[in-house]
Amino acid sequence: MIEMRDVQKHFGALHVLKDINLSIPAGQVTIVLGPSGSGKSTLCRTINRLEPIDSGTIAVDGTVLPAEGKELAQLRADVGMVFQSFNLFAHKSILDNVTLGPIKVRRMNKAEAEKLGMSLLERVGIASQKDKLPAQLSGGQQQRVAIARALAMRPKVMLFDEPTSALDPEMVNEVLDVMTSLAREGMTMLVVTHEMGFARRAGDRVLFMADGEIVEDAPPEQFFTDPKSARAKDFLSKIL
Ligand code: ATP
Ligand code: MG
Repeated sequence: MIEMRDVQKHFGALHVLKDINLSIPAGQVTIVLGPSGSGKSTLCRTINRLEPIDSGTIAVDGTVLPAEGKELAQLRADVGMVFQSFNLFAHKSILDNVTLGPIKVRRMNKAEAEKLGMSLLERVGIASQKDKLPAQLSGGQQQRVAIARALAMRPKVMLFDEPTSALDPEMVNEVLDVMTSLAREGMTMLVVTHEMGFARRAGDRVLFMADGEIVEDAPPEQFFTDPKSARAKDFLSKIL
């Protein structure tokens, strides 16, 4: 579903992605771990071209990422992204936040988009809040709207970049529960997270990044119980 080949990325003199080769099959839940500055967010952002790459190729569902134009818009619609900050449209209702993409990008009519939007709001447990503005919701609720909004585009892949890091602790689980159910339903997911319980429970695979490289690539149980590299051991000793 996602194929990265020989991907290089610099920010000026800083080499942030060093020859990344990565193949993520459909339905796999891949957890990305690693110290701050190791390139986790950059990896996510290159997959939908929020960041251009210097060289190499990235394909999503067989389509090599194009540089621009209509194809890029289509590709972005196929790759849902949820960030630490929810990035909802502040002046639009919760339902409008979810229906805007399908109407504008997928050319869905309003009635159809609202039907889809309501079913997704129900699924994330906030249908009753549909007429409110984002600021009237808790952080956990806003993040669930952000997930519903991404799902409304019927993405082939969902990327999550620390989706619970900005939340109060009591709201973390309501968001992780939604992500767990998505994972169970077979969504292809790439998840940057510090939630190790979630990583172990929901992940099929752990990628450990350090200094722009994928240093380890293993099933969660193996990674957590028997990390191979000194850097992964050091990382785990600090967080577990
Ligand atoms: P964190 O855990 O703190 O979120 P990360 O693993 O997501 O870290 P990235 O955000 O991918 O790390 O950043 C990798 C490196 O690239 C860091 O050194 C960062 O300072 C640098 N970097 C990221 N974005 C930019 C940018 N737009 N311009 C210049 N340097 C950047
Ligand atoms: Mg990051």
